Amino acid sequence: VEFILGLPKAELHAHLNGCVGMEVLFELVDELDGESGGGPGTSSPTTLTKDEIRTGLEILESFSIDDIGEFFKVFGVIYGLVSTRDALGRVTRGVLGGFIGRECEYLELRTTPRRLGRSSLEEYLETVLDEVERYPKEKAGLIVSVDRRMGVATENESEGVITVEEVINLAIEMKKQGRRVVGVDVCGDPRSGDMELLKPVMGKVREVGLGLTVHIAEIPGSVSGDTQNLLSFTPDRIGHGTFLSEKEKEIVLERRIPVEVCLSSNIICKTVPDLASHHIRYYLERDHPIVLCTDDTLPFRTSLTAEYALLLAKPPFGLGLSREEVRRVAEWSLEVRFGGR
Ligand code: IMP
Repeated sequence: VEFILGLPKAELHAHLNGCVGMEVLFELVDELDGESGGGPGTSSPTTLTKDEIRTGLEILESFSIDDIGEFFKVFGVIYGLVSTRDALGRVTRGVLGGFIGRECEYLELRTTPRRLGRSSLEEYLETVLDEVERYPKEKAGLIVSVDRRMGVATENESEGVITVEEVINLAIEMKKQGRRVVGVDVCGDPRSGDMELLKPVMGKVREVGLGLTVHIAEIPGSVSGDTQNLLSFTPDRIGHGTFLSEKEKEIVLERRIPVEVCLSSNIICKTVPDLASHHIRYYLERDHPIVLCTDDTLPFRTSLTAEYALLLAKPPFGLGLSREEVRRVAEWSLEVRFGGR
């Protein structure tokens, strides 16, 4: 552990609401008004009752995930609690403090803007950025996530719908205002969304110098053309890439696109059966840059230190890499960050 803690490194793939501490969630449930966790007309957008949220948290504590679809349900409970600007600020502070200076030198945190009660998407990002910017730019930056389920703008867009275009424009605007937005991410349930629709919007991201990372090929046989569309956005990094075809892997190698690898996440969501067959080996054998990340520390009960320990531990508990190899992985994480310089 001393060796791992002493390695300079960056965490580049951590979803804010997936990395919230369990203690703060229990604090937030205690603070909910009356019997209800909120609903229409209250400051909380959830329709779950306080008891339902508490039960959800207890399930989360003893969680075992059957598949990746099951995993996305976790966020309903978390969103029910992180439902005011005050709660969002608190959890963001906790997540930043948990990583920076303890587990890594630099954190590129990511989050998907939501409307909290009457707050706008801009206010959501401002709340998170206010916390991120308490740290110098060498220590923290923010990636704005677009959820695959968000539609693109339509003419008769109803007020409640959040569109990809809206989120991208906001990320760009905030960067122009000098806020610490360093990149854009495409995330969310890989079984949903049509990535073809994102094409016209994605070009704008590169024009303003934001980095682009995309969750790609997380599940087998995803929507037809999905992976090719995502690769056509020419991402600067890719997340997971578990089920890339041989041809797609060649593109990744040729363009030397760094791969964000989340070992525990893949094993727990059962998209990879065991560490021995994890695609990290493919890239390590080819000296291709990978970044070791946690993804969501809460549901996966992990930490960056624990992920690095998996690299060092002898098989079958880990990959059995040498200290030199692990040091190289840590160096890559700092080399391929979007911000921090
Ligand atoms: P947030 O963006 O801060 O709200 O963090 C939680 C969100 O991140 C979830 O609702 C998902 O959309 C996304 N997310 C977390 N883990 C994964 C993953 O493994 N694959 C794709 N999306 C994910």
